[in-house]
Formats: sequence, structure tokens, C-alpha cells
Amino acid sequence: MTAFPIFVEIVIMTYSRITLNKGKETSPQRFHPWIFSGAIAKKEPDLEEGGIVEVFSSQNQYVGTGYYANGSIAIRLISFTQTEINEDFWFNKINNAYHYRKQLAIFNNSTNVFRLFFGEGDGASGLILDYYNGHVVFQSHSWGIYLQKDNIVAAIKKTIDSDLKSIYDKSAETLPKQFSEQAQNGFLYGNEEEVLVKENDHVFKIDFIGGQKTGFFVDQRENRLLLSNYCKDKMVLNTFSYTGGFSVYACAAGASTVHSVDVSKSAIELCNKNIELNNFTNHEGYAADTFDFLKDKKDVYDVIILDPPAFAKSRDSKHNAVIGYKRLNAMALKLIRPNGLLFTFSCSGVVDKNLFFNTITAAAIEARRNVKVISYLHQPADHPVIPYFPEGEYLKGMLLWVE
Ligand code: SAH
Repeated sequence: MTAFPIFVEIVIMTYSRITLNKGKETSPQRFHPWIFSGAIAKKEPDLEEGGIVEVFSSQNQYVGTGYYANGSIAIRLISFTQTEINEDFWFNKINNAYHYRKQLAIFNNSTNVFRLFFGEGDGASGLILDYYNGHVVFQSHSWGIYLQKDNIVAAIKKTIDSDLKSIYDKSAETLPKQFSEQAQNGFLYGNEEEVLVKENDHVFKIDFIGGQKTGFFVDQRENRLLLSNYCKDKMVLNTFSYTGGFSVYACAAGASTVHSVDVSKSAIELCNKNIELNNFTNHEGYAADTFDFLKDKKDVYDVIILDPPAFAKSRDSKHNAVIGYKRLNAMALKLIRPNGLLFTFSCSGVVDKNLFFNTITAAAIEARRNVKVISYLHQPADHPVIPYFPEGEYLKGMLLWVE
């Protein structure tokens, strides 16, 4: 008998090792993915921005694997089991996210636009993927995710398979400033073509290259559907309308007239285009500042939608944001016809639910209107909130009855 030598290839992972200060392992052990710089006891001196690291407790117990950043949030954990961060790792993450949405029927015969991956909610801080009828927009909010781009692209291709038409990288404006020049927006797969999507059977044209954010506010799908219940024969005002998501639903639900207001002329053009695509004629778009528009208006509206951009992007601006929300909501509440409705939202992460709801109460008092809360509104399931990371809950709203 001849003995053949057997070669076994052993891949040894060598990620930089980080040791935490005593007691600082409790937060990541509860699956919170952020580790602040102050929690670190020991690290190699020349750690590279975005490099993969393994984190250990002061007792040398493995805590998690993540990527490093020079900043107050020093590590973002993307795994709580010791593993190699490679294409398979990303395929598991993205495929899980896809199947979760498939199982919940978030995409179906009526809807082919959804958020495919939502940062911490899907287990990888800094990664956003939006799906537009086969076109995927990749948006990286950190250099660590950007360095994983090739693996992520391969994982998207494997997940979406034959339904995939293109992948567009739109990270230049979301990466931290010092890295944005190293990133250029562009196609990572496929080419530019006209993109039309369906959301609850309404058609929208998507401009992810020129438009704001990834091209469409996917997070308002359920709230737009809720609006449909209340628009028949009503005068509807949709402020901060962007591509006219709420406006299209209002027209479809039989509103007598719908007015859309957005400060951006190109947003109003997109909104008008979407109204046209759905064959509605009872709509008028206004390129104007909402505050100015409301100031000059008389009480002609039965339903008003307020969906402004985040007024607060940091804790420092929280106070001014609250003043802004109160002013805006008081103006709208004064204007709404008796027995009308207000749909009001905040997408500022630092203004939490309670603060927002208290601010709306203050606005209603100022406007001297009696209001009833019909529903508390929030982000849909393709923007998952995980209990270990409550910071992920950013969109909140209220539907108010205004006597
Ligand atoms: N409701 C929209 C998303 C709103 S995004 C949807 O369902 O798709 C916020 C929008 O507010 C952006 O389009 C931005 O151009 C617009 N905007 C920002 N400041 C504004 C202002 N002062 N007045 C009117 N629009 C404003």
C-alpha cells in the first residue's frame, strides 16, 4: 500500500486584538454593537482605520468581531461569534436580511421597492442597501464597511441572483468627510437605465443617481397606505413631499385636490412626474419653503402631512429641532379644517418618541385645537429595530384627529 501525503490547508485568522477595560464587556455581551474608545484598555498602536479587529474582555474572553475607527465609537461589532469576515460571512448576513423580508412579504406582486439591509437592525452598522425593482443601491456610512465592498457586492449578486439588474455605489456623501474623496459614486455592476418601481401598485420613477439619499424614502410605505383610508373627497396638503409618495397615494384614494410642497425644484419635478405616471390630474406641485407656504394659507385643507428632513442631526441641535417641530406643527394645526387630520413625523434619531410626542402636544396647546391620537406611527419592518440597539428607532409619527 502506498501512502500518499495529505495536505490540509489551514487558514489562520489573524485579526488585531483589542482588550477592553474591566466591566466594559457587559454592553457588547448584551449585543449592543458599539464600543466607545474609552472602553478600550489595550490595542496595537498602529491600527488601521476600518480594519477588522477581535474584541476580548479583561478576562480574555472573546466578545465579538468588528471594524475599527478612529473616533468616539471606536469599534462597530458585526459578529458575536468568532469567525472570518469574508464573502461567505457577508452572504449569510445579506441572505438572512433578504429572506426575513421575503418571509414577511415585504416585497410581493404589488411592491418591488424595499430596504434590503438596515445597518445595526440587520447586524452590520454602517451598511445600507435599498432595492429598486432589481437595482440595488449600496450606501456605506463608514470606512470599515467600504473596505468590505468587494465581498458585499459578491454577496448581493449571490443573494439576488438572476433578479439583479445593477448595483450602484452611493457612498461618497455618506462616508465620514475624511474618506469621501476616496470614494466615487458609480455602478459596481450593470449600467444606468430607467428605473420604475411599484409600491402598493403605485408606480414611481427612481433617480438614485441624482436624487436625495438613495433616491426614495422607502420608510414611509405603510404610513402612505394608512393615509389612503382618509383621503376620499378631501383637500390634502403634502409638505416636504420629495418624490410625492404621500401625494400619489392621496390622489389614488380619491382626494378632491392634492397639493405638494417641497423647497427643491427638482423634487417637485420628480413628484409631478410620478403623479403623471399614475395618471392623476387633481394635483398641484409647489416649489416653496413649507414655513412660508403655510404662513400665507387659509384653512382649506382637511388633511395635512408633515414629513420634514431630520431637524436634529446631533445632540447639540436637539433643542433647536424641538422648537422647529413645535412651530411647524402649530402652524399646520391652526390651518386644518374642523374634524381634519394631521399626519406628522420626525426622522431625527436624537429626538426620541416621548420628546416628539410631547412637542406635538405643546404645538396643539399653542394652536388651541382639541386633538385625538388615532395612531402612533413608526418605521416599517424592513427598517428593523432590534431590542439590543434601541438607537435604531428613528422614524416616529402621529396621526391626529383635529376637532
Ligand atoms: N415625505 C417624503 C420624504 C421627505 S424628505 C416622502 O415620502 O418621500 C424631506 C424633503 O424635504 C426633501 O425633499 C427636501 O427637499 C424637503 N425640504 C427640506 N427643507 C424644506 C423646507 N423648508 N420646505 C419644504 N421642503 C423642504
